[in-house]
Amino acid sequence: MADEKLRVYWHDDCMLHDGGPSVLENEPPDYILFPEPHVESAMRVRNIKGILETGPLKNLIDLRNGRHATDEEILTFHTQGHLDAMKAAAANPDPVRIDGGGTVVNDGTLEASTAAAGTTLDALNAVLNEPGGPVYSLVRPPGHHAQPTMGDGNCIFNNVAIAVEAARAQGIERVAVIDWDVHHGNGTQTGFFERDDVLTISIHMNHGSWGPNHPEAGLADEIGSGAGVGFNRNVPLPFGVGNSCYEAVLTDLVTPLIADFKPGLIIVAAGEDANAFDPNARMVVTMEGFRRMGLIARNLAAQHCDGRLLLVQEGGYSPTYTAYCAHGMVEGALGRTECSLVDPIGYYPDRSEHGLAVLGDIRAEWDQAIASAS
Ligand SMILES: [Zn+2]
Repeated sequence: MADEKLRVYWHDDCMLHDGGPSVLENEPPDYILFPEPHVESAMRVRNIKGILETGPLKNLIDLRNGRHATDEEILTFHTQGHLDAMKAAAANPDPVRIDGGGTVVNDGTLEASTAAAGTTLDALNAVLNEPGGPVYSLVRPPGHHAQPTMGDGNCIFNNVAIAVEAARAQGIERVAVIDWDVHHGNGTQTGFFERDDVLTISIHMNHGSWGPNHPEAGLADEIGSGAGVGFNRNVPLPFGVGNSCYEAVLTDLVTPLIADFKPGLIIVAAGEDANAFDPNARMVVTMEGFRRMGLIARNLAAQHCDGRLLLVQEGGYSPTYTAYCAHGMVEGALGRTECSLVDPIGYYPDRSEHGLAVLGDIRAEWDQAIASAS
């Protein structure tokens, strides 16, 4: 393990998407004198790349260039109508707001989004055909809110879901998706809700629905339908929980599901927006928490699928602390048992106990929903 390198896939074209100045995800009003960049900015992934390339792990990072996805690859998960709509929006002279206004499509968005999907497919190819530990697709825009028929929540194409379909096409019979982005992975859930060959698990802040194009609430009783009953699991967590709760979710709830499912591949929808400084969430996971999560994912893949683990970047909106947390995750994914960076966080108000208290209720809701669906 000492010499193991982490293969990190990257594409400069992912930077071409630009949401412009904003107040979080809205257009800035005149009375805000210094609007920030849109939270889903290139800066956040550039900082992750920078911390990996120049920080203490620099000799363990194998940085590789990805590629663009083809239309045919996008269409393995998305409808022709969605692809056509995104092409039309990107061709518009002015930025187009979709998803009720929160998601911007500008003239670079399509290139960025096909680069994110294609680079993730290259990363998957490395996982499947070039054994050697986990692989990290460090891309943007993120993907897990993108449903087959529409973009949503800063996501245009669902990079993880397209990788799932590619893995299935390459003969991997069962694929498990562990989504620890702080928001519900609604697009992935919708796409695989009736499937028993894809186990989707979303661990998220209990934020509920956020609009008519996002009807899924991410609740524990959304357990799949038809053949897919039991193969979609949601872990909606109370606000404010931190490292101990996230670790317990992975060990107590997720690990038994993975053991039962016996996947040939684990894909982590790896957002770091459960971090303590995130403007889009109210959880308090730290760099050390992400290290533990990365280590658990590594160990699950080692135990159940010959180490086949693909980490795909999702959210994470603190422009600097996201990079520390991604660095922590990478240390865990490399099997490290300590963080090598000093955490810049000043204090850590871990309220995990009220999250731990609901884990049994979530498990009971799963069982009840599955029993009544059968
Ligand atoms: Zn998110």
